[in-house]
Amino acid sequence: MKAHDGMYIDGAWRPAAGTGTITVLNPADERPVGDVPAGDAQDIDAAVRAARRALPAWSATPPTERAALIGALRDRLVARKDEIAETVTAELGSPLAFSEAVHAGVPILVSGSYAELAATHAFEEQVGNSTVYLEPIGVVGAITPWNYPLHQIVNKVAPALAAGCTVVLKPAEDTPLTAQLFAEAVHEAGIPAGVFNLVTGLGPVAGQALAEHEGVDLVSFTGSTAVGKRIGATAGAAVKRVALELGGKSANVILPSADLAKAVNVGVANVMSNSGQTCSAWTRMLVHTARYDEAVELAAAAAAKYGPRIGPVVNAKQQARVRGYIEKGVEEGARIVAGGPEAPQEQGYYVRPTVFADVTPEMTIAQEEIFGPVVSLIRYEDEDDALRIANGTVYGLAGAVWAADDAEAIAFARRMDTGQVDINGGSFNPLAPFGGYKQSGVGRELGAHGLAEYLQTKSLQF
Ligand code: NAD
Repeated sequence: MKAHDGMYIDGAWRPAAGTGTITVLNPADERPVGDVPAGDAQDIDAAVRAARRALPAWSATPPTERAALIGALRDRLVARKDEIAETVTAELGSPLAFSEAVHAGVPILVSGSYAELAATHAFEEQVGNSTVYLEPIGVVGAITPWNYPLHQIVNKVAPALAAGCTVVLKPAEDTPLTAQLFAEAVHEAGIPAGVFNLVTGLGPVAGQALAEHEGVDLVSFTGSTAVGKRIGATAGAAVKRVALELGGKSANVILPSADLAKAVNVGVANVMSNSGQTCSAWTRMLVHTARYDEAVELAAAAAAKYGPRIGPVVNAKQQARVRGYIEKGVEEGARIVAGGPEAPQEQGYYVRPTVFADVTPEMTIAQEEIFGPVVSLIRYEDEDDALRIANGTVYGLAGAVWAADDAEAIAFARRMDTGQVDINGGSFNPLAPFGGYKQSGVGRELGAHGLAEYLQTKSLQF
């Protein structure tokens, strides 16, 4: 794999100030695929200064010109789609077909949507005797996780650029090669120097320096709730804007009238996708007690089919963590009906697709985010019980409801404390706002709501 040994700052690859190196491993075979520099506070400072210098010209660039450049970036992602898919597969371990369709495909949709939104969004509105201007917040510090390496980057960078902000990105240490490819695409698209800057490095060093830098106006973070709370506190103390996309423990609510086989099969597929490393995964399957045993059988059969097809999890730590949760589930009295804690093979960070039955709402595996291919089946007595269980975690990121007709599912979904719900399966909409209720986060990504995160309002009265 191609790897740069510098940082992309002010439109060029520059030697890192930090002296450390991060070795990226392929989770499928544990072999090294490339080295990138571990940036430090000095690298972050250089990148933030470059972003500040670029801000006046970029924020004054007409939105239609910014739109054209974001469109050019999208075209570069299209041109390099195969390379992106291969890179994500090398550093995340996901099967190549999934990398092509999702890891490379979705960022093309999202960057395309922001090329359009930048051109069409009303950055100025008339309210009575006032003109309201929507102006860029300024320099954005973006900190992203490894689970959808390019999607998480594009979800922040595309709306920030559309809004007229400039960006410093600190990507996850497990997947920096995809971030370097993205920086190349930005460069090829002709986006002016300093508008986008990349510093690879460790979270507690480079990430923290970015979150604390006084030249950053908004910190947009996606990752764990633990780190998100710290970033929120740091930003709060500095009265700095913050957007947080954090964890989830989403409920897949199968109402008694639903097509059970379809709901269970799609539900299991949803959790196994990306080896369970999706913050919005429907990890708790809620089934009415009358159909519970049937659902358990269907889910076990569905998971058994996944065995050879799902990729590894991202690293050894994540593998140990997921296996630890599976052991914890057994200890607390849940019953494994597919998979289990044993590693399926010696090499690679694989975890067996696992289904738990007899899970009760207060168990650890029903409360905490596992971030692996593990689904828990929980029984409910009636709709109020289902709602109490669905809403009974600190999270509220996503969810699903299945019923014989949409109206019944919608009525239930409206009572859920969560940011996004798929009705009878749903399908991905790059314009639909995504983000959390409760401890799943602050703010929204995607579409016009995602753009609004990067804008501040000024009103002039006449
Ligand atoms: P993480 O919080 O450890 O890391 C996320 C990013 O934050 C990385 O770039 C990391 O280097 C950086 N970071 C770590 N410590 C930091 C610090 N002290 N200061 C500043 N930056 C720091 O999370 P992860 O292990 O990469 O990702 C898994 C978690 O992320 C899961 O809990 C998952 O649910 C969550 N997640 C949420 C979403 C969402 O959209 N809500 C999306 C993906 C992942």
